[in-house]
Amino acid sequence: MAKDQSSTIKEIITEFGNDRHRLMDIALKVQSQLGYISEDNMEAIAQTLGIPLVEVRDMVSFYSFLPREKEGKNVIHLCNAVVEKMHGMDLVAKAFEKNLDIPFGSTTEDKKITLKYTPCMGMSDQPPSALINCIPVTKICPEDVPGIIEDIIKGSKYSCEKRASSIPAAQVETNLMKEGEVIFSPMERGAAVRSAAIRTPDEVIDEITSSGLRGRGGAGFPTGMKWGFCRKAKGDDHYIICNADEGEPGTFKDRVILTEAPDLLFEGMTVAGYALGAKEGLLYLRGEYAYLLGYLEQILESRRHLGLLGKNIVAKEGFDFDIRIQLGAGAYICGEESSLIESLEGKRGAPRHRPPFPVTDGYMHQPTSVNNVETLCCAARVLEKGADWFKQLGTKDSTGTKALSVSGDCKHPGVYEIELGIAINDLLEMVGTDHPQAVQIGGPSGNCVAPKDFGRKICFEDIATGGSVIVFGKKRNLLEIVKEFTEFFNDESCGWCTPCRAGTTIILKMLDKILEGRGSMQDLEMLKKVGNTIKTMSRCGLGQSAANPILTTLQNFRNLYEDLCKTDEYIPPFDYEKAISVGVEIAGRDPVEEEE
Ligand code: SF4
Repeated sequence: MAKDQSSTIKEIITEFGNDRHRLMDIALKVQSQLGYISEDNMEAIAQTLGIPLVEVRDMVSFYSFLPREKEGKNVIHLCNAVVEKMHGMDLVAKAFEKNLDIPFGSTTEDKKITLKYTPCMGMSDQPPSALINCIPVTKICPEDVPGIIEDIIKGSKYSCEKRASSIPAAQVETNLMKEGEVIFSPMERGAAVRSAAIRTPDEVIDEITSSGLRGRGGAGFPTGMKWGFCRKAKGDDHYIICNADEGEPGTFKDRVILTEAPDLLFEGMTVAGYALGAKEGLLYLRGEYAYLLGYLEQILESRRHLGLLGKNIVAKEGFDFDIRIQLGAGAYICGEESSLIESLEGKRGAPRHRPPFPVTDGYMHQPTSVNNVETLCCAARVLEKGADWFKQLGTKDSTGTKALSVSGDCKHPGVYEIELGIAINDLLEMVGTDHPQAVQIGGPSGNCVAPKDFGRKICFEDIATGGSVIVFGKKRNLLEIVKEFTEFFNDESCGWCTPCRAGTTIILKMLDKILEGRGSMQDLEMLKKVGNTIKTMSRCGLGQSAANPILTTLQNFRNLYEDLCKTDEYIPPFDYEKAISVGVEIAGRDPVEEEE
């Protein structure tokens, strides 16, 4: 290894305190300074940190934004999520390939540009989109491509350093279409923190419990109960972690909250820190939102100046708390709380066995509460305005509001903060749709809802969602979309358990068979069995929901499958005669005819 590379790595590791747990930061910085993390680089990291090389390899190989091969000086990650494909992504991809004369997955001869695909990068309200280096570029048309390439080659427009401190709304449209009373209404800085500080931590938790606030990630676990478990758990330290790793295809509301209401989020984290007895909070920011990092750091710094972070917050003796932002590196599974904790500890983001749960054994094996961005914003508002005020919004079991990311076939894609309990029909009217064929509530891991159920309500009592709402118009091929969603889970599976790893592959093969017109009714029964096995036998939330695209469409759109499955008879998964035709020709004899 070149001497200067080795000393660069040593400097980077020193900057992160020679701390093995900061391996993610170390790897990201090595990547940004040296362009990739070669085998030599990994060896140097392992040696300097005094850890086995396999640990570094294991971690680096897990994340898609940590390349181990040298890439071009500039990397274009074109988003290939379903909504992007619905809005002309394929044509944009062809334009890049034509103008650069290389296919996706490769680098130009002069090593200036690499073309790669990436799953949903949180811009489904303005597709087609791409990350160029770390800069998001949205609403790309094929005609824009030559100009984009020219700008990349000129070298200024897509420099991460130059854009790091820009106002995010100047870089990406916010598309905040409906401001509700909880997340997007104005708030005086420090109001929630001051309100918490005049109570005891237990009183803060009681207020949250009384508000009925439930986790906004989709599962809806009561926040007050989670904080109570965490506070009571024994440990040297306690931690609050904010999960800002929204990776569910079609979700982008956290991007908008982080842009429009970062102070509210940091208020919520500080309130949580006080309630749990935590001195440190960690915001895990998805790698795709790296462009927000400089802006968020500035907000944190200004809060420190105002005495809203640091020592003796709001002049209360012993109220010490600060927040660190950890950047992710492109792994959907890190949205699962135990994977996220592993990632924060500088490891591959593989889910942990549970129990023990993070509230007793989380970050650094200390009691930890992992909360969604939106949950923490709601918690801040509860402290500011009171549990009774919060409870007036929403329904009995789903209090408050919900930020929804709406995309797909609608006139006004964007973020809508609505009261929980809204009927799907009312939401569709708000976003402007034309008799859609289906609405995907909760992203691929949620529910594909048919028009007969558009009277159903978005809330924990009926259809719960983490926030993604994708509208599919009449012309969309729903089964192709099911296939895309299943491919997404298959790609993102960490591979640890067989039902998730192999089951999604089996589903994909069966879907291909059906889409090729070789399906039978027996296949539909088998799909259901495989889907239920994946759902019930997988270890973490990814596997438990990976079959939802199949299971919910089999339930709500069975006619689409039946139209392609004309027979009850078993049909083999491949065309036997076609498969042996080459052998028959070479051998000059046909075993089928001979048998007859
Ligand atoms: Fe990994 Fe899938 Fe198993 Fe989760 S369910 S642990 S993602 S293989």
